[in-house]
Amino acid sequence: MPRIIMHLDMDAFFAAIEERDKPRLRGRPIVIGADPMGGRGRGVVSTANYLAREYGIKSALPISRAWKYSQQAKAEGKPEAVFLEPNIKKAEEEGDRIFSYLITKVDTLQVASIDEAYADISSVKTYKNAEELAKEIKNHIKSKFGLTASIGIGPNKLIAKIASDEEKPDGLTIIPPQKVQVFLDPKSVRIIPGIGPKAEEELAKINIKTIKGLRSLNKETLVKKFGKRGSDWYEKSRGQDDNPITVDREIKSIGKEHTFQKDTLDSGEIIDSFKKLIRSVTRSIAKKQIKFKTVAIKVRFSDFQTLTRSKTLKEYTSSAKVLETESLQLLLPFLDSRSNPKRKKIRLIGIRAENLTAPLK
Ligand SMILES: [Mg+2]
Repeated sequence: MPRIIMHLDMDAFFAAIEERDKPRLRGRPIVIGADPMGGRGRGVVSTANYLAREYGIKSALPISRAWKYSQQAKAEGKPEAVFLEPNIKKAEEEGDRIFSYLITKVDTLQVASIDEAYADISSVKTYKNAEELAKEIKNHIKSKFGLTASIGIGPNKLIAKIASDEEKPDGLTIIPPQKVQVFLDPKSVRIIPGIGPKAEEELAKINIKTIKGLRSLNKETLVKKFGKRGSDWYEKSRGQDDNPITVDREIKSIGKEHTFQKDTLDSGEIIDSFKKLIRSVTRSIAKKQIKFKTVAIKVRFSDFQTLTRSKTLKEYTSSAKVLETESLQLLLPFLDSRSNPKRKKIRLIGIRAENLTAPLK
């Protein structure tokens, strides 16, 4: 079966989370990174949202420079950028939630960083189906998490990664095998991982700037001039990459939440919805052949007070029955005065299986 690989990259992740959670930030340029200290700050930008990028502010730029660009924009009558320090814990939790969802949709998932992942989706069989799946994933991330992701799909990780960067933000780029070369040829040699500014300069000296140019050199010449790197470039410039998807980080949890149309304390309604969540989590667990050891639940009241309860079992299990019994035991006290003395109405419920064994490949 030919491989179909997906690369998903969240757009301006840290900044997007802040924008989502702090409405006052919406529509403003946001720079996440070190404290600019009025232009004297040290350190760099970690993420900038797309409005800030219009000012020339981007990842890895010195924060003092970002401050200067923002002040210049301000002098031109544009809005000043908001500088924030990264909330890594929040981003990690968000990433875990997104990847826990993603793993239920794909064959194998490799989480590559806090906000990007590769997935093998070969079982969908065709690029048309892959496109449908990518759209479904993007829509879900938008509606459930209030965030956008860019997705690239291709015959291997190299192409999927380059494709996900092609139409950022909120992009979807599909490169089936027969389009790989046309896609790569006009691009700068810099898109090849391993070709940095120095290698780019070396190549420019022999008048090679694009992938097409790089392909004009035969393998012997490349190896003679650049050693082992040369043979790597030879393959990558032809879109060849057989690196496997490796599950290198455990998904920390699989969970599901439900927000009621109207806040409620009707136990029948709450338990019904809760059982639906349990079934959905059970399906994900079964599909991925994962076992769990901890069951956690979450309750958010109408005043937004949010409480969680969890129980860690003696042994790993994948039993739907255990998940149901344990999670109901954690939930029920919230439906009466035991854990809800003021009888507050409930806005949201959630269930989560945590402490997982790694998914089987
Ligand atoms: Mg990203």
